[in-house]
Amino acid sequence: MPNSNILLIVSEEQTGDLLKRGVLQPAGYQVTQVGEPTAAKSIIRSSPVDCIILESGVGGEDFKFVYDLLATFPATPLILIGPEKDTDQYVKLLRRGLLDFLTPPLKPDAVLESVQQGVDQSARLISWAKDQYRRDTDFLRQRVNVLETLGNVGRSVTASLDLDEVLKSVVDAAVEITGAEEGSLLILDESSGELTMRASLNFKDEFVKTFRLPISDTLAGEVVRTGKPVLLDEKSPQKIKTSYLVKTLIYVPLKIQDKVLGVLGVDNRESERPFQPQHISLVAALADYAAIAIENARLFENTEIARHKLEAILTRIEDGVIVVDPDGKVILVNRVARTLFGIDDDEMFMKPVEEVFNHEQLIDLLTNGHETFPFRCELELDEDKVINAQLNFVPDVGLTITMHDVTYFKELDRIKSEFVSTVSHDLRSPLTAILGYVELLERVGPVNDKQRSFIQRVQVSVRNITELINDLLDLGRIESGFDESKVSLSITNVVMYSIESLKDRILDSDVKLALDVPKDLPQIIGDSVRLRQVVDNLLGNALRYTPKGGKIEVELREENEQIIFQVCDNGVGIPAADRPHIFEKFYRASNVVENISGSGLGLAIVKTIVENHNGRIWVDSTEGEGSVFTIVLPIEKNQE
Ligand code: ADP
Repeated sequence: MPNSNILLIVSEEQTGDLLKRGVLQPAGYQVTQVGEPTAAKSIIRSSPVDCIILESGVGGEDFKFVYDLLATFPATPLILIGPEKDTDQYVKLLRRGLLDFLTPPLKPDAVLESVQQGVDQSARLISWAKDQYRRDTDFLRQRVNVLETLGNVGRSVTASLDLDEVLKSVVDAAVEITGAEEGSLLILDESSGELTMRASLNFKDEFVKTFRLPISDTLAGEVVRTGKPVLLDEKSPQKIKTSYLVKTLIYVPLKIQDKVLGVLGVDNRESERPFQPQHISLVAALADYAAIAIENARLFENTEIARHKLEAILTRIEDGVIVVDPDGKVILVNRVARTLFGIDDDEMFMKPVEEVFNHEQLIDLLTNGHETFPFRCELELDEDKVINAQLNFVPDVGLTITMHDVTYFKELDRIKSEFVSTVSHDLRSPLTAILGYVELLERVGPVNDKQRSFIQRVQVSVRNITELINDLLDLGRIESGFDESKVSLSITNVVMYSIESLKDRILDSDVKLALDVPKDLPQIIGDSVRLRQVVDNLLGNALRYTPKGGKIEVELREENEQIIFQVCDNGVGIPAADRPHIFEKFYRASNVVENISGSGLGLAIVKTIVENHNGRIWVDSTEGEGSVFTIVLPIEKNQE
């Protein structure tokens, strides 16, 4: 073949020239001549060589280079030129792939015939390789197309919420991948036990609409019952009905965790072209996508139903509900809460609370991190409305506030307090008169021992009633906030005065008192008389409810710009069921023994005073082991 490339490897330039100019070039071959192995190999690697002519002596007498070339470039024909004496070696090399050998004297015709044979062999090899490459490329292209189609369907399953659209794309892909004439996706209607056609390609609309296939005695039904795919060709006996006549067909089940939801099928009615077994696995992969899409749609529908129910409940309940995420963005404000805070913005979802609400107290509640939940407080709205709010933390959601309008109860409470205060006031004068006259009794004439004992009982009872009335009047005054006169004061002094005045009671009660009351604490803003009342009450209770030989610890400290005041005793403790109520008026715990007198008003007074000082109070207690009352009060701002 003219223009073919011949590589001539000869040690003597003269021999080379003779072959090149005398024989090969005149016959139309392109000839490259080299004299040593490295140059030869680099040429074969870098440019096309159709045939090699090698002189046997190049690269040594032992034929090493010849073996090397045959092993490294097995596709390039090699002709060896060498002395006749080595013919035995040449025969061995022929077995290793040598094309031919020539012995001097070289005859031009023999050389050309041999070279032509090499060139032809090279051409055949190249053409075979090209065909093979084309076949491989076509095969790979097909595989890539199939993978792309599967990938597209997979993406549409995750991206689209429209089930019909996804199922249609599954059927289209099944038809495309298998080269079928038509495709269908049948869904099992569990109530009727029939299969209906949910998606299809190349079926008539009317046929699709009316399609109903029982699962007994049908091919698709068998796939549903067994959960196994079916491949049908012209040779398979068609005992079972397909409801339409086909020549070849594949049906695979749509399965979710062993439950068969339906069947994906492709078929040929005209062509007899059989489907291949590998088509089953491809259609099965698509059926899996369809099953996932159906399951996703079912789960989504369930979630939507649950969400609508929840939304309906939250909208209808008579309590206000606000939900914000951990970043302070609004997730939900129900109807009642919208009315309470006068919101008519429908676009509030995921807006910051500061943008949605115009209520300082509420914004503060939702944005200033609280540590203990539930946190209860009252919010004041316009028109003297009072809302009882409960702040809660819900993991993975954020903060929720439920709100209840307590304006009516507040008003009721105010009227009741007013009534109690009026009645108490009116009772005080006659009681003072009774006490006065009882005291006079002994002065106006002799009384016997029995009469004296009765007089004393009357006096104790009247004093108890007077104390109760004083407490009630106190509470009324404190609640109304009329008598407040707050100044900057040292809480240490208040506590120490109180302890000083209770000294006799402490000695009488035979308890050990431990004090941790530092002098150099920051000042607070408060009413010293009322705060004395707080300390007196808590210490008085600790003394009353701690049996002889017990221990009381009083502690004051500063923590995070707050004063912490704690009274801790190892007395009778408070039963768990009573604990939430002990700050209510007239409430006494169930374990109080009868001979310990008390009105149940002390802690109600304490709590009201503490809250009037913007503080908080709570109790930790174990029945039979003791109690710890803790009060937190803010320190005065801007202190040096
Ligand atoms: P009371 O006049 O009954 O002491 P308080 O309002 O001061 O009324 O207290 C309410 C109730 O709380 C008490 O009756 C008692 O049951 C309980 N309590 C208060 N302090 C203590 C304490 N230190 N140890 C045990 N129980 C206590």
